[in-house]
Amino acid sequence: MHLLNADLHSHSAFSDGTLSPEALAERAHAQGVELWALTDHDELGGQQRARSAALDLGMGYLTGTEISVSFAGETVHIVGLGFDADDAALNAGLAATRGGRRQRALDMASGLAKAGIPGAFEGALRYVSNPELISRTHFARFLVETGVCADMHSVFRRYLKEGLPGYVPHVWAGLGDAVRWITGAGGIAVIAHPGRYKFSATAEYALITEFIAHGGRGVEVMTGSHSAAEHIRYADTAVEFGLLASRGSDFHSPGESRTELGTLPDLPGRVDPVWGALAPRVQSSRQALS
Ligand code: AMP
Ligand code: MN
Ligand code: MN
Ligand code: MN
Repeated sequence: MHLLNADLHSHSAFSDGTLSPEALAERAHAQGVELWALTDHDELGGQQRARSAALDLGMGYLTGTEISVSFAGETVHIVGLGFDADDAALNAGLAATRGGRRQRALDMASGLAKAGIPGAFEGALRYVSNPELISRTHFARFLVETGVCADMHSVFRRYLKEGLPGYVPHVWAGLGDAVRWITGAGGIAVIAHPGRYKFSATAEYALITEFIAHGGRGVEVMTGSHSAAEHIRYADTAVEFGLLASRGSDFHSPGESRTELGTLPDLPGRVDPVWGALAPRVQSSRQALS
């Protein structure tokens, strides 16, 4: 049986990816993606362009975003899918979540300057196309291209993770707020890449149960951030908690992202794909999606 090739997690230059929404749509389509969502961090600026590029290519489209949330002292990402992108409360919530990024970036740059790396704010800005969305990824690109580190991963390992010179603690959206912004706009909230968080079993259980209590309904099972063992583990989590399962590469940039658009394994048969529940929200032009 053919399972829909859905890729419901990816980033454009409206956040910390490097491609335009149009180039990303073309790449997804060329990789065989049939249902796509652009999920820029805390930002909807690319949605209209992504949607119309997808429809021109005959690819199904779901609106998307990835909201930064603070929970139990960690940053957690919540993906929203299939919402009304014009919803006022969602747009206001995302604007507030983006709001602190510039000051945070200035503070990150002071930390890096003290560690012997001057000019990182201006340097990172050279890689930013959306001035409201300066992220650690832009600092990482600057530090790689100036030869301070060999690759993106080592920048995070040496400078940008908690406790390191370029890390600045930040308070993002509340879990309940993020879930309500998404569901209030008619969408479905999904816990992004659960295997990435440094949670104890107790804290992970609290995240999942509180997320569900706030109205969250999905979890990413297949993601570029998961190992093969985590694919199985979080499929079990989806079944255990009655969550819908999602699949998304988390693609950011050619040559940088280890998982190409549309290439993850299919969801295992025992889970309910989130796109089943989102069928009425899928935007498509001519071609029917099977
Ligand atoms: P920010 O929202 O500014 O905290 O930036 C978070 C982004 O940094 C994530 O969305 C990833 O794109 C990127 N990131 C986090 N950890 C790593 C890593 N180890 N290697 C490469 N990119 C990373
Ligand atoms: Mn990112
Ligand atoms: Mn993420
Ligand atoms: Mn992401």
